[in-house]
Amino acid sequence: MASSDKLTPVFEHIDTNRSAFLDRLIAYLRHPSISAENIGITEVGELLVKMLTEIGLETSLMPTEGHPMVVARWEKAPGKPTVLLYGHYDVQPPDPLDKWLSPPFEPTIRDGRLYARGVGDNKGQHFAQILALESHLKVHGALPCNVILLLEGEEEVGSPNIAGFVRANKDALKADLAVTADGPRHASGAAAIKFGSRGVVSFELRCRHASRDVHSGNFGGVVPNPIWTLVHLLGTMKNEAGEITIAGFEDGIEPPSPEELAAIERLPLDIEAFKGSLKLARLDAPAERPFYDRLCFRPTLTINGFHGGYGGPGTKTVLPNEAFVKCDIRLVHNQDPQDILRKVAEHVAKHAPEVEFIAADMGMQPSKTPIASPFTAPLVRAFVAAQGVEPLLIPAGFGSLPGYVFTKILGIPAFVTPYANPDEANHAPNENLTLDCFHSGIRTGAALLDELGQLQAP
Ligand SMILES: [Zn+2]
Repeated sequence: MASSDKLTPVFEHIDTNRSAFLDRLIAYLRHPSISAENIGITEVGELLVKMLTEIGLETSLMPTEGHPMVVARWEKAPGKPTVLLYGHYDVQPPDPLDKWLSPPFEPTIRDGRLYARGVGDNKGQHFAQILALESHLKVHGALPCNVILLLEGEEEVGSPNIAGFVRANKDALKADLAVTADGPRHASGAAAIKFGSRGVVSFELRCRHASRDVHSGNFGGVVPNPIWTLVHLLGTMKNEAGEITIAGFEDGIEPPSPEELAAIERLPLDIEAFKGSLKLARLDAPAERPFYDRLCFRPTLTINGFHGGYGGPGTKTVLPNEAFVKCDIRLVHNQDPQDILRKVAEHVAKHAPEVEFIAADMGMQPSKTPIASPFTAPLVRAFVAAQGVEPLLIPAGFGSLPGYVFTKILGIPAFVTPYANPDEANHAPNENLTLDCFHSGIRTGAALLDELGQLQAP
């Protein structure tokens, strides 16, 4: 099935308005919306409500216990599927300001890229989706399928309220699939569709023996050392072969499907270039594990930091009295954050009962949509129509996104279609989006609606 005749004039409209759309993105980016510092969130939420209402969507700002959600809908295509488009209007703080070549909220074009905080993550990407909707409405007076647009205001602070919001508004958010344009394309620059993401949990291990630091000679050999206690405990959690040795840790993890294995086979890979880019002598153990297998299908146990004792100049013959470790675990499909934290707690209680285990409040469930989903083919065709190339299929994004609220709470397939360049420098100074990525993002969003409009609602 080719893209419909209705898509050609929409593409023409997008191409004709290329510079006008860029000007509007620049105007949008001038408004800071820093969730962590509660700067500009309400203003940008209200700006979006006005903008989306003007283009013909029924829009509201819906409160949560934190920052509000913008929900906009157009549901006048009976019998057609409903797509939920997700994005977030909050941005990361811009620090360190002195590392920016142009001010973060004064968008500036240099060498075919637009530089501004939030341009890639995520304003430029959801604005591309909005312009795709607007273009269909301008050209045809209607959208090819039904649309619910959900824009969150606290993704950059870990989405603390989205699960509760989606649970409380299940009926209002009822859709057949969810699509998120966020994150970068594949590292090779190729377009990609991601079918889920790894989850994450964090915890801390604290050990204290004596009531104060003591002399390593006068007390050494008598007073236990909390750093050694933690070293030994950590040694029971992951061995040198790279295996995580916490009982039950991998229970329920399913081996990848044939489609998933075939998809990772096709992902571009140059291990020597990867090692060179980080000046690495080797990859993490186990040495024989395939590269993308590690990132898509395997959980991790990472020591984020280990603190205790003396680290200053010269020597200090001290026997410290306390130490602590911070760790995170990336979770894969079928691992549950609470279950994994309970298993780690049990492991600590068994191997080092004198160590305190503290789970962090924040965490995110993994999510997965099968590549065999009936929506995969239309999504691939949309990329081909808009960009002229077949996208790579990535079974699971390596980082963590709140896609589980769609797959697990709404029970619908969820896809990530990143529009940004791989070197977008999100969360860092000089965040940027190439003008081509922005333009092709609008086209891809438009083609996606067109493809979905050729399906019947399931
Ligand atoms: Zn981000």
